[in-house]
Amino acid sequence: MSARALDTVLIANRGEIALRILRACRMLGLRSVVVHSEADRDSAAVRHADQALCVGPAAATASYLNQAAVLFAAEVSGAGAVHPGYGFLSENAEFAERVERAGLVFIGPRSETIRVMGDKVAAKRAMREAGVPCVPGPDETLPDEPEALHELAEAIGYPVIVKAAGGGGGRGMRIVYDAADLLEALSITREEARRAFGNPEVYLEKFLLHPRHIEIQVLADHHGHALWLGSRDCSLQRRHQKVLEEAPAPGIDAGLLAHIGERCAQACRMMGYRGLGTFEFLVEDGAFYFIEMNTRVQVEHCVTEMTAGLDLVQWQIRVALGERLHLLQSDVACRGHSFECRINAENPQSFAPSPGRITGWSLPGGPGVRIDTHAGAGFDVSPYYDSMIAKLIVHGGTRAEALVRLQIALDEMQVSGIETNLALHRKLARDAGFVAGGVDIHYLERLLQQGAAT
Ligand code: ADP
Repeated sequence: MSARALDTVLIANRGEIALRILRACRMLGLRSVVVHSEADRDSAAVRHADQALCVGPAAATASYLNQAAVLFAAEVSGAGAVHPGYGFLSENAEFAERVERAGLVFIGPRSETIRVMGDKVAAKRAMREAGVPCVPGPDETLPDEPEALHELAEAIGYPVIVKAAGGGGGRGMRIVYDAADLLEALSITREEARRAFGNPEVYLEKFLLHPRHIEIQVLADHHGHALWLGSRDCSLQRRHQKVLEEAPAPGIDAGLLAHIGERCAQACRMMGYRGLGTFEFLVEDGAFYFIEMNTRVQVEHCVTEMTAGLDLVQWQIRVALGERLHLLQSDVACRGHSFECRINAENPQSFAPSPGRITGWSLPGGPGVRIDTHAGAGFDVSPYYDSMIAKLIVHGGTRAEALVRLQIALDEMQVSGIETNLALHRKLARDAGFVAGGVDIHYLERLLQQGAAT
């Protein structure tokens, strides 16, 4: 470890998460340095940070993804730790390694852990070894011979899904319903993966027809102590992008959840995992199947914060700086229920981003209502970045109470000047299937199709 100041954190991100991290730093009495692009010069994070450094032009590849510039900013500002947020460099093992080599603390797991989890085949293998249930399918490199491939797919049972080992963001996947299409699907996905992820390795697993997306939040310190902090249901997705999340996942047997949660914590101990992490599962007919692990803070961490009563970002920073977690699993409770809506600047029909100036901005409030946002009246939504402008988070003593709170809050929230998906959220919050709880990952797309047809 260098003599650098461990009282200064460099925030290598933008938008609401930069502000979220900044607030956690403030609470911990840490100095914050925010890096930003030219387009984000006037952002709230830049305004509130102790120091702000411009790392390049608007395009993310030239600024937020510019590793050398971000590392240089850390050096000149004297920061001792780097928080990558989500997206951008947060799951880039090479960047984490460069941070480590510079003698800085990467606020996340070790770079080698990120590397293993970034390879979905290696991740699956690690999970199987730790006793975490996975989607049926081999966790090793596929054979080359067509016959062996066909035998493998038959053994899994059609439909199967071909996935890129290095894939992410819902890309690099292809469903195969029939043996006649298997070889072509494999070669197309392989080629796509080579181009998109620089890694042509693909693997096969069972394609589940009507699963829910349920995830387990974990937190581990640098001293071998790991906890699971409850479940989230993120099944409401459009094109594999999460739209509305909740904690806990409704209708899951508490004993089963505790069993899976404990397997996840155990996997962390076995891997020497450090920091916050999320185990993502598909859940079908009451069975959990691991699909991947995210080694960073997630957009939807807030619903867990509300139900666990913990500031996850503060804890993420504290364990990264070497603090011991004194919490015991028996101290972790799940109180009430929480929902989070991702409010995006987008066209309600086409879902195309709707950049521009926000002219009107009216936020909901009251007990159990939380807004995480970097936007406001007069804010220019940039075409360069993700279209999320706010997260509306509610908490209630029960799911029913949280739902009513969500409906009221969504009705109160008004945004003008740009288009948003607020109307979709209002519809969802009153939708019979969603209100009942436990819908599958295709539910939202089906709903949208029906809406378009009427
Ligand atoms: P990414 O890293 O690109 O997000 P994931 O492995 O998490 O990839 O999968 C993204 C989404 O694709 C899942 O949330 C689910 O909707 C779908 N999916 C992935 N694997 C399967 C599977 N075996 N069966 C059914 N759907 C799947």
